[in-house]
Amino acid sequence: MLRVTDLHKTYGRTEVLKGVDFTVERGEVKALLGPSGSGKSTILRLMALLERPDRGEILLGGRRLGVQATGGRVVHLGERELARQRTDIGMVFQKFNLFNHLDALHNVMLGLTQVRGVKRAEAKEQAAAMLARVGLAERARHFPSELSGGQQQRVAIARALVMNPSVMLFDEPTSALDPELVGEVLAVMEQLAADGMTMVVVTHETRFARRVANEVAMFDSGSIVEQAPPDEFFDHP
Ligand code: ADP
Ligand code: ADP
Repeated sequence: MLRVTDLHKTYGRTEVLKGVDFTVERGEVKALLGPSGSGKSTILRLMALLERPDRGEILLGGRRLGVQATGGRVVHLGERELARQRTDIGMVFQKFNLFNHLDALHNVMLGLTQVRGVKRAEAKEQAAAMLARVGLAERARHFPSELSGGQQQRVAIARALVMNPSVMLFDEPTSALDPELVGEVLAVMEQLAADGMTMVVVTHETRFARRVANEVAMFDSGSIVEQAPPDEFFDHP
């Protein structure tokens, strides 16, 4: 489903990704672990098409993302086409990145009306259904400032899901939350995995990785240094 090959990224003189390869099959969950600064967030931003790799490929369902082959030449996509491809990749950030002047319902509707051109009434219906799915049916008309961190993060998950993405990327989705709110977000993610969503999750929640991931990859200094199913990965000193 999702495959990255030989991904390289350098900021200034810092080589942040040194040729990363991995594959996530349809319906699988991959957990990315590793020390701060090892490049986990960078690889998610590349896969979400928020930045371009210096080298390497990102393939989703066999299609190479971010570029277009025209007459044997590979050309970077323009903003418009990128925006369209991005909607197939749901991204959830550590900081929820909601619009504070919009209520939960309108935050979730926005991509449908603005990017997909869905009619408002239809978008509203789909957004309401998605908020119900993350347990927030009763909070649709609340603004972010009226919601807990855990609720805001669930709105952010609903906002990504409503676009019906092929894959969901999570960048430390619970790291900004008070400890007592972590569980409600992990529960939504676990349900999503059980429903068959293909997911890549950067997290420090090793219990979640152990229970939900099909495979765990350890990053260090811009490379994957170990990769194994959770049983194997966690079963050594
Ligand atoms: P992680 O998610 O594993 O903590 P990151 O991918 O955020 O790691 O960062 C990896 C390295 O890349 C760090 O050294 C960070 O300072 C650097 N980095 C990330 N983004 C940028 C950027 N936009 N400009 C310059 N350096 C960056
Ligand atoms: P609806 O979409 O329910 O038919 P509106 O189009 O009037 O109703 O939008 C309601 C929502 O849109 C509000 O809850 C708020 O999120 C946002 N909104 C609309 N107008 C404003 C405004 N002037 N200032 C801030 N937010 C607004």
